[in-house]
Amino acid sequence: MDLRRKNWALLGKWWHRFGEDVESLWKRIVSEKYYGGKREEVDITAVGNWRTSRIWRDIISVGGRSRRLKNMLVEGFRWEVGEGKRVGFWRELWVGYKNLRDLFPRLYELSKNKLGNISDMGVWEGEKWSWKMEWRRGRIGREKDEEEVLWEVLENFQLKKGVNDTRRWIHDLEGKYMVKKAYEFLAPTESILEDQWSKLIWCRLVPSKVSFFGWRLCIDRLPTKRNIMKRRVSRQEEELMCGLCCDMVEEANHLFCMCKEPWIIWVEILQWWGMETVIPNNILGVAEIFVQDVGKIIGKEMGACISLVVSWYLWYWRNSKVFNNGNNIRGRLLEMIQAKSFFWIKNKVQGCVCSFHEWKVNPVGCALSMRRYKRELKLFRKQQKGSATE
Ligand SMILES: [Zn+2]
Repeated sequence: MDLRRKNWALLGKWWHRFGEDVESLWKRIVSEKYYGGKREEVDITAVGNWRTSRIWRDIISVGGRSRRLKNMLVEGFRWEVGEGKRVGFWRELWVGYKNLRDLFPRLYELSKNKLGNISDMGVWEGEKWSWKMEWRRGRIGREKDEEEVLWEVLENFQLKKGVNDTRRWIHDLEGKYMVKKAYEFLAPTESILEDQWSKLIWCRLVPSKVSFFGWRLCIDRLPTKRNIMKRRVSRQEEELMCGLCCDMVEEANHLFCMCKEPWIIWVEILQWWGMETVIPNNILGVAEIFVQDVGKIIGKEMGACISLVVSWYLWYWRNSKVFNNGNNIRGRLLEMIQAKSFFWIKNKVQGCVCSFHEWKVNPVGCALSMRRYKRELKLFRKQQKGSATE
């Protein structure tokens, strides 16, 4: 048995209990001693100060010890929202796997109520919850993009009147934190890719709606037919079939990798980048090719970005086939992906002189010059700043 790992799993339990217990004595004592009795939850990467007792310091700094541990605790617990009275709207995890503050940083800045709970962000109209967000001013530019996605998230979310908020641990079916499971979860693994990929998704090279899409794909929360059926009681086979090939059950790994046509698209895309390799049968594996292999040449961020744009268009294609019956954009898909990736990336690397034609025929050279340009720009700004302060 790995004692350090065991200890972490135990500390996690205390950390968790502090957030969970509403009225226990030890929580009251700790709250009184360190947080003036007010604190609901503990910042997991805190370090404490000289007044902090040894054991308490161990508990509150638990997240600083390993990233995996932090993920297990911070991202491992989610609120199951009832009325939303206990749950911080911006800072806590209740929809998806990231808090809204990190998902929508621009909107967060504009919010009039940064510390408010979910229940402060709207009103009950009879039995129906109605969101009412308050902003410091109107939204402009990318704030509008963020707002559009935020509304999509909120509109799909119904609060439950009269129901308490509870916390669930996602690594356990019953939602309870178990030291034994935590210990297992903390076992060292080889793949840090999931971590890396889910961070790169939020790179600023693509609009936030695309990041949001990528994130849902990554955690298998896209409304694929199988995911929709999971929530229903009656199941009919034919309703599960892939929107592109109609041959197999439509779930993310099929739709985005194994399905025949998407598979061909990935091959075409990799050829475009001058690469020949076997396409894995799952989306994280495909992401890995772009982050590691393509990313080795042009940078992980840009590599991840390309794979995101391709996935985005595969989903777009699938939707147009399922919902606009027969509107088949297959013939134009490669060109659309090339055009959009060029447009988005170039937008972020303003002043870069590459043309779309160059991007199409020599993407690697183009990406490298964008990267170089970005680096030089950074350096230039730094120097300017430096000379301004001298
Ligand atoms: Zn298919």
